[in-house]
Amino acid sequence: MHDVAIVGAGPVGGTLALAIAQSGLSIVALDAREAGSTLRGDRSLAISHVGRLIFERLGIFARLAPAAVTPITAIDISQARAFGTTTLTADEHGLPALGYVISYRALQAAIDDALAATGIELRHGCEVTMVTGTPASAHAIVAGGDAVEARLAVVADGTGAAVAGVARKRRDYGQVALVAKLTTGSPHGGVAYERFTTSGPVALLPEGERYGLVWTMTPQAAEEAVAWSDERFLAELSRHFGARRDDFTSVRERKTFPLSLELAQPAVAARAVLVGNAAQSLHPIAGQGFNLGLRDAFELAQEINATPRDSLGGHAMLARYAARRRVDRYAGVAFTHGLSHIFALDGAIFAWPRGLALAALDALPFAKRAFTRAMLFGLS
Ligand SMILES: Cc1cc2nc3c(=O)[nH]c(=O)nc-3n(C[C@H](O)[C@H](O)[C@H](O)COP(=O)(O)OP(=O)(O)OC[C@H]3O[C@@H](n4cnc5c(N)ncnc54)[C@H](O)[C@@H]3O)c2cc1C
Repeated sequence: MHDVAIVGAGPVGGTLALAIAQSGLSIVALDAREAGSTLRGDRSLAISHVGRLIFERLGIFARLAPAAVTPITAIDISQARAFGTTTLTADEHGLPALGYVISYRALQAAIDDALAATGIELRHGCEVTMVTGTPASAHAIVAGGDAVEARLAVVADGTGAAVAGVARKRRDYGQVALVAKLTTGSPHGGVAYERFTTSGPVALLPEGERYGLVWTMTPQAAEEAVAWSDERFLAELSRHFGARRDDFTSVRERKTFPLSLELAQPAVAARAVLVGNAAQSLHPIAGQGFNLGLRDAFELAQEINATPRDSLGGHAMLARYAARRRVDRYAGVAFTHGLSHIFALDGAIFAWPRGLALAALDALPFAKRAFTRAMLFGLS
């Protein structure tokens, strides 16, 4: 029997594995994807300053080429065809950067590389169909019928669908995120944009020489936008974006992700714990999902490292972990869900209160500081 079985060695499960690699425990990580691949291609991830500190400590940051990490020096927030703008800058907060943008694929490669150096057993092409627990141990059932037994199963598969005894609350946003990579006529200078348009929020994340685009819209609009010619796509984007940024020159890798809010309640079950998107899946509007998942991984690692082997996965340990994560999880869900409502609502009737909120944010230093802090570090 293993001490810890990690189901899903993606960005969150892989980070957890690295954070407990020196514990002396017997650890196995199971992942459905083949070595060197990612399950759903690439996307731009904005990570917070805390995320960077976690990656530095675990040797992940050093494995990312300098060009793969783009500092965000400012975030420009505005809305189309209505008043109200604000700009959050790293300088005014005395930080080297407000956050960093990393490609999901580059991050996964760095984590895989770091894992390979630890000697942790990582089984690729290993799809887990069910995780069950008894008072004595957890079983991860692999497609084909084999079972992996462990004192503790950590589910980090991005969905958490296969865990016995965990109910999931799900709310479909009726929206998808259309992601793509864009080039612009002039350099981005580290400036990210969050723009609220009549068809949904649009985020531009500076990544390398390009921008990563996250454009929220209805599934039907996204189906059409994916099929547009590059010229039409860039023209429509410029129209929505207005004068704030209108020098888009090329687009590639258009792809859509359905958006829903999902919350595992509770995020622990017999001998099992859910982390990252398996525990909560958020609207990407404020780039909080992965950052919250990283904090799950980091705090679970602290709990695992502090727990005697015989007590791993026991009720007391799981209850302690659930209690220490409760506030951060619920605050993260409430913050992004609230923002998605305030900022995703369509129509002129919502534009003026939103404009007031942005103007107030711009005029009130303490409000701006609090908002920036929430964006960077979470609400706990
Ligand atoms: C368009 C978009 C933009 C986003 N932007 C941001 C952002 O800017 N900042 C941010 O913080 N967050 C962002 N997010 C959220 C972020 O992508 C997720 O929170 C993060 O990827 C979650 O990591 P994870 O490791 O929990 O899950 P995943 O990334 O889903 O990884 C799951 C891992 O488990 C493996 N797996 C899946 N099923 C199984 C199975 N049955 N058995 C075994 N292994 C399995 C997969 O191969 C994968 O390696 C965004 C999300 C979207 C959709």
